[in-house]
Amino acid sequence: MARPCVLLKYGELMLKGRNRGRFEEHLRESLRHAVESASAPVRISQRPGVVVLSGAPVPELVECAHRVIGVSVVQPALRTSRTMDDVVAAVSQALTERFGSPEEAGRRRFAVRAHRRDKRFPMGSEQVAAHVGSRVVEEWGWPVDLTDPEVEITVEVDQREVFVSLEKQRGQGGLPVGASGRALVLLSGGFDSPVAAYRAMRRGLRCDFVHFTGAPLTGPSSTYKAYALVRQLDRFQGGSRLHVIPIGNAQRALATAGAGNLQIVAQRRLMVRTASALAAELGAQALITGDSLGQVASQTLANMATVEEAAELPLLRPLLAWDKEEIIAEARRIGTAEISKLPDEDCCSLLAPPRVATRTTPSQLVNVERRMELDELVPKLLADVQVHVPGAAA
Ligand code: ATP
Ligand code: MG
Repeated sequence: MARPCVLLKYGELMLKGRNRGRFEEHLRESLRHAVESASAPVRISQRPGVVVLSGAPVPELVECAHRVIGVSVVQPALRTSRTMDDVVAAVSQALTERFGSPEEAGRRRFAVRAHRRDKRFPMGSEQVAAHVGSRVVEEWGWPVDLTDPEVEITVEVDQREVFVSLEKQRGQGGLPVGASGRALVLLSGGFDSPVAAYRAMRRGLRCDFVHFTGAPLTGPSSTYKAYALVRQLDRFQGGSRLHVIPIGNAQRALATAGAGNLQIVAQRRLMVRTASALAAELGAQALITGDSLGQVASQTLANMATVEEAAELPLLRPLLAWDKEEIIAEARRIGTAEISKLPDEDCCSLLAPPRVATRTTPSQLVNVERRMELDELVPKLLADVQVHVPGAAA
């Protein structure tokens, strides 16, 4: 009997030399995290250009694999030895598992696609395909259709074994988490920032999270939400840390300093300033927000520029050009929408002016900030940070 496994493929076209090694290393790390939840120990074996998962039931392996960023194809397969008799038997086994008997299956147009990752294999790909195809015609009585088959049988010849499969599912795609470095996400409780975090992970950034609360002026509800969001996002990377920083008093100080209709932008600058200092401690190379151009008054181009001026690291906005509906659809897909829509006490609505200034400049803000002791404030805020590890099993 051929043994079940799951093949994972990744977009390897742009991968060369050292990059490839790093890419594969990060991918394996993500995989190790993803399979931790499986009911049996999972074996992860690397072949040139393919990773093979085995050891746990296939549906579980498939589910784990679908969570892993960097995997572009998830392919349930049967693994067998490199003799043609075994390959033919494995194809029979796969077809029987899927369709029952030839009578039950009826007539289906089929094609065999063969690839050799080991070019030393004595038969050519065409020969392998023709051999397997003729046996399927004999046993199942199906017609061959190479252009529009209903059943596509893939035979992949590797160095030590052959894989047979009937389906290829699309994986998450993207670059494995960590391959592009590390970033700190400013996570609020809304729809946008969790999606921004996910898209950043999809481009290979390992993410840490910081959430600012209005404490002591607000309750803990926004922290609970941030915690639940990070827990959800952690499924894609593992080891996520959530840093919670209360800024209620600092917000009040800004209001007292006369921020007026600059209040929101002043708070945002304080957030990116504090986040920059935290990022330096964590070794993160960029900040990430869920800003989308023009979505709300605080996200005009001028205000983004004013906020960015206070950041000491590149401020990345993965959703800059996304529409709200696109963001919400993505939030549903990655499982953060249900959490984001819960009510909370958002620190931004606290002390929000009736009209938010839309065309601010850094010099206006510097005027307000001059009345605050920023040099002391940022370290003081950082001293109050609370760190949570939401992904860890309770
Ligand atoms: P979101 O849906 O992410 O809450 P939003 O549409 O509500 O975004 P804003 O409230 O203007 O937009 O926030 C813009 C970005 O600033 C957020 O996406 C987030 O990255 C950051 N941000 C806002 N509030 C907080 C907060 N309390 N803690 C951490 N980051 C925040
Ligand atoms: Mg918000």
